[in-house]
Amino acid sequence: MPRHILIAGGSRGIGAAMVRRFSRQGDLTAFTYLKSEQEAQTLARETGALAYPCDSRDEAQVKDTCRRVLSLFHTLDALVVNAGTALYRVLEDTSLPEWEDQLSIHLTGAFLFARETLPALREKQGAAVFVSSVWGQTGGSAETAYSAAKAGLIGLTRALAKEAAPLVRVNCIAPGMIHTDMLSRFSSDEQEDLLAQIPLERFGEPAEVAAAAAFLCSPDARYITGQVLAVNGGQYI
Ligand code: NDP
Repeated sequence: MPRHILIAGGSRGIGAAMVRRFSRQGDLTAFTYLKSEQEAQTLARETGALAYPCDSRDEAQVKDTCRRVLSLFHTLDALVVNAGTALYRVLEDTSLPEWEDQLSIHLTGAFLFARETLPALREKQGAAVFVSSVWGQTGGSAETAYSAAKAGLIGLTRALAKEAAPLVRVNCIAPGMIHTDMLSRFSSDEQEDLLAQIPLERFGEPAEVAAAAAFLCSPDARYITGQVLAVNGGQYI
């Protein structure tokens, strides 16, 4: 029986690798995107997954998208909330709209998707996975708003894991430095500095984060909830 998966933020990078991974293993997969219409449609054609434009920050759009996906699938085995953008800004230069936007995309988006899909996940004894970051665990200098939002996701994971048990498992992935557009915004000097902090001596690949999401959503993880799974090459142990 194919499982049904919803991925928030699947058009590029780690999210696209997740769409490929779940589709390849035979799961019926729906994903959302914001700006990358072209990439989303190409990925949908390549994988057979269903693409929905949806701004994770917008309550009405998230509600409508979840309603459309659930009325098509009639069921849901797993939700993965991956959508995110980075903000490289020291605290004193961060405006209130920038601060609120970071909380909104990372934290409010996860709250909205979880709230709209929990009844369906409960029916299937399913799983939710949120994508945090190593900076949510350790704090990233000049990424204060991003780090605060990602740390909030870890709190959300732990609280919701207790609240949604025993029917729904809730976990979180904390990637380190992963080869995507987000990482390519660092200069080569900055990338070398980051690389020097990684015991496995390389950046991670999106497929390696997707593999962690696939595991956490699988029956192999049926006794795992409320955890933060680091996919970081040992950057933070
Ligand atoms: P990318 O910038 O490559 O992709 C981000 C994805 O999120 C895109 O699909 C984008 O869609 C989507 N997205 C962004 N904003 C919104 C929004 N408001 N509504 C819906 N979708 C949105 O990032 P990565 O793949 O690198 O990152 C994925 C996740 O992993 C993020 O949460 C990020 O914080 C986290 N992460 C990444 C790390 C890394 O090193 N790459 C390290 C640690 C954590 P579109 O293009 O259509 O706008």
